[in-house]
Amino acid sequence: MIDHTHNPEATCWVEGADSHADFPVQNLPLGVFSREGCAPVIGVAIGDCVIDLAGLDSTGLLGGAPSELLLQSSLNALFAAPSSVRRDLRHVLFSLLTDPTYRSAVEPHLYRQDSYIMHLPAHIGDYTDFYVGIHHATNIGKQFRPDSPLLPNYKHIPIGYHGRASSIRPSGTPVIRPSGQRKAPEADAPEFGPTRRLDFELELGVWIAGENQLGEPVPISSAPNRIAGLCLLNDWSARDFQAWEYQPLGPFLAKNFLTSISPWVITSEALAPFRKAQAARPAGDPQPLPYLRDATDQAEGAFAIDLEVAIETARMREAGTASFRLSASSASHMYWTAAQMVTHHASNGCNLMPGDLLGTGTISGPDRSNLGSLAEISRGGAEPIRLPSGETRSFLEDGDTLTLSGKAVAEGYRSIGFGECCGTVMAVA
Ligand code: CA
Repeated sequence: MIDHTHNPEATCWVEGADSHADFPVQNLPLGVFSREGCAPVIGVAIGDCVIDLAGLDSTGLLGGAPSELLLQSSLNALFAAPSSVRRDLRHVLFSLLTDPTYRSAVEPHLYRQDSYIMHLPAHIGDYTDFYVGIHHATNIGKQFRPDSPLLPNYKHIPIGYHGRASSIRPSGTPVIRPSGQRKAPEADAPEFGPTRRLDFELELGVWIAGENQLGEPVPISSAPNRIAGLCLLNDWSARDFQAWEYQPLGPFLAKNFLTSISPWVITSEALAPFRKAQAARPAGDPQPLPYLRDATDQAEGAFAIDLEVAIETARMREAGTASFRLSASSASHMYWTAAQMVTHHASNGCNLMPGDLLGTGTISGPDRSNLGSLAEISRGGAEPIRLPSGETRSFLEDGDTLTLSGKAVAEGYRSIGFGECCGTVMAVA
């Protein structure tokens, strides 16, 4: 629901917040941070600062917000609560940050960006990665199966696989080049060694709120209530391992060596103005089965989020060259909505828990300028891309820093950003 907290004219007394690219007062994303020598606590980003909610709670200014949900080192309890609790918290924070009379009381609980580090926002019990970017599925499918890039099920069922939660890390975590087994098509036998085809995948993460009991599906009409918010997600991938291992059971060690996420949860409440209609399916495509079909979801279940990928090589870093934009995509290229992902996941009675994380799958657009992985950009390594430094890349090299960014944009509203999701590739230990 759009309310006064989305007013684009609203201003905040925190210096720099009104002009901040990602975190103006209309955003108020949730996360978990710690200062040196202190335990992790829940915080909210505003401009270049974070507000310590535990500290703020001790002032009594948070009103009715339940302390037991805020005095935590993860967002799981807050995600388990009804969405009205998160909305009320947003409203009281908005009041405190827009009314200068609260400045002296709130400011002692405000910390500058260089004085804290970010952690995973929640304990992630389970992680599932979907495949809803139809252009990516088509492009990659062509490389693996030139004759039938999209398998017959793709337009009927939101494809996904169970990923690994233990290797999800916040932005900034180094990407240690994984070793694994591969077999080139022309080789007689497989070999083991560091990946030669290290790739990124531009995705959104969907944070699950609330809980459905085992055996209890989530109707599509109530699925939006099960989404606490979104983040950026990079599903680092070793394409040579993937090609050799993926049949018959899907991705395994090619994916689970690391998944990076942006540490701030851009809440469903903050994203309200940026909801939009799901793109109409091309003529001839099947309609979703009834359990995945909902008029409201089709009318407002997609998100107006611009996505970007940038690379900075070690040579560019040394030369002080600006990072190079590899891709500019959009969340509107998702063939299935986030609500359809949730409903499909629970349609067999699978219980989704607060703090579970769903990946959308790589979000590529239809053009060369909006591809969400190097496998697509370099056409499987056949057409390396040239960087401003004179270097070329088919896949990631040691020393490369890859950064995902996202921005929700809608006419008449203040844009809000996701922060960044970055990682630098390191040689295998
Ligand atoms: Ca993926």
